[in-house]
Amino acid sequence: MYKKVVVVGGGTAGWMSAALLKKLLGLKVDVEVVESDKVKTIGVGEATIPPIRILNNVLGINEKEFLVETKATLKLAIRFDGWGKMNDSYFHTFGESGFTSAFANFYSYLRSASDDFDSSQYWQYDANYFCCTKGLVPKDCIGSSNSETPYAYHFDSTLYGAFLRKHSEKMGVVRTEGFVKEIQVCKQSGVIEQLILENEKVVSGDLFVDCSGQRGLLIKGALGVEFDDWHEFLPCDRAIAIQTNNPSQDILPYTISSAKANGWTWRIPLQHRVGNGIVYSSAHMSSEDAITSLMSGLDANPITEPNEISFTTGIVRQPWHKNVVAVGLSCGFLEPLESTSIYLIQSALVRLIKLFPNLNNMTAVADEFNRQTIKEFELVRDFIVLHYHANQRGDSDFWKDLNSMNIPDRLSMKLELFQSSGLLFDDQLDIFREASWMQVLLGQNITPNEIHPISKMANDASFKQRLAQIQNKHQLLEQRLVSQRSALEEFLQ
Ligand code: FAD
Repeated sequence: MYKKVVVVGGGTAGWMSAALLKKLLGLKVDVEVVESDKVKTIGVGEATIPPIRILNNVLGINEKEFLVETKATLKLAIRFDGWGKMNDSYFHTFGESGFTSAFANFYSYLRSASDDFDSSQYWQYDANYFCCTKGLVPKDCIGSSNSETPYAYHFDSTLYGAFLRKHSEKMGVVRTEGFVKEIQVCKQSGVIEQLILENEKVVSGDLFVDCSGQRGLLIKGALGVEFDDWHEFLPCDRAIAIQTNNPSQDILPYTISSAKANGWTWRIPLQHRVGNGIVYSSAHMSSEDAITSLMSGLDANPITEPNEISFTTGIVRQPWHKNVVAVGLSCGFLEPLESTSIYLIQSALVRLIKLFPNLNNMTAVADEFNRQTIKEFELVRDFIVLHYHANQRGDSDFWKDLNSMNIPDRLSMKLELFQSSGLLFDDQLDIFREASWMQVLLGQNITPNEIHPISKMANDASFKQRLAQIQNKHQLLEQRLVSQRSALEEFLQ
């Protein structure tokens, strides 16, 4: 039995790891976090997707306390501006339009029911979209486990890390301050035995979770695991983040992602400020031009200096090697277009707990962990690549190159199937289900040439009745819509 887990790093990944491992394995396993104030955390990462609520629930976190301490707001969707044609705008919501059927998708039914169908009608049956177009939220949605409008959060990830640290320490996680200056690896077995800190403390353990950020101190540094660079599919390699005041009392319940000449910008509203940033390709734009592009789109005064960050998209070839499991930025990076990094940390931790090793099965569980982790990263990568590849902008070499580039085979097959027949199938490890793919495909003007014959049933009176029922529900929902500010005030009082 592995009795002691050492987590190296106290960023979002480190404290998420410590909290979940302690909560679920704490009766049998000790958890120690080693972190150094000398190395700053990445300090960005503000948008999440709905499974974060499951994590908080499992950890026993009180939603009120969480909202107060992390300055969080609700997120129902992302609005993508300019990703298809220059003036297009569409929502990728956390909801679902219409209803599911075992035999054909809602899009096919809807399209065959109307002679003058256009793709924008697809969103008309989605409650999250309904709220987003009004910029409002249902007054009673916060705290509901079965909300008709599924939501995630925008939050300050540094505050989330601090919040989880408090929570973890209360559960018995030990925190050791100190810069790791040496990592001792057993010459025979190749496993990590102990860490030597700059303050001469020695930390030993059975299993090490590497949450040391992009440098991957243990996985890349000590064990020499190589990194698969996905730059060919996702050429952006820089970001600049800046915070502004919130110019109005309103808090929009969605992230805005706007395509720009050589990259894209984000706008993420929190309770007390707005997080903004630009992601771009350094091969196509200088950092000076990126700052100019970012600043020219701000809708309020900056309250911080621009924070420049370099990154490489990709994943280590073996996220779990010997007795080291890489979680967070040490494992890999995908740009924040669909707010997936914090989710990928959560998913890796769930997988680690399911595959927690005993003394005899380390290789078998590591192999399975690696297979699932890499595939999950690839599926998210493909979804992000779709946004870039399906652009029709043509205003710069950046967008033209992305439009004509080779895409991963799995994505290519998915696109071909959808374009020829309107069909989409979920992959078990893909966090993005059919509803998500459908919104991005239609939002970026990819429409099927043909649809499934079964959808001719859509002319049935019962189909039209179901559509009318959804619209009636939206009318009732409208009466409960309020500004996010007042929903938060009401919930937090
Ligand atoms: P870090 O925050 O870098 O933490 C590393 C830790 O390791 C620190 O505590 C440091 O002190 C410690 N450490 C390092 N070296 C040593 C040493 N020698 N000794 C001791 N300790 C050491 N994710 C999302 O889900 N949504 C988003 O909207 C989002 N936006 C992003 C925007 C940008 C521009 C970038 C770059 C990332 C974004 N992310 C986002 C990703 C997200 O920020 C990270 O996945 C998350 O914060 C986890 O980071 P981490 O804990 O792995 O690394």
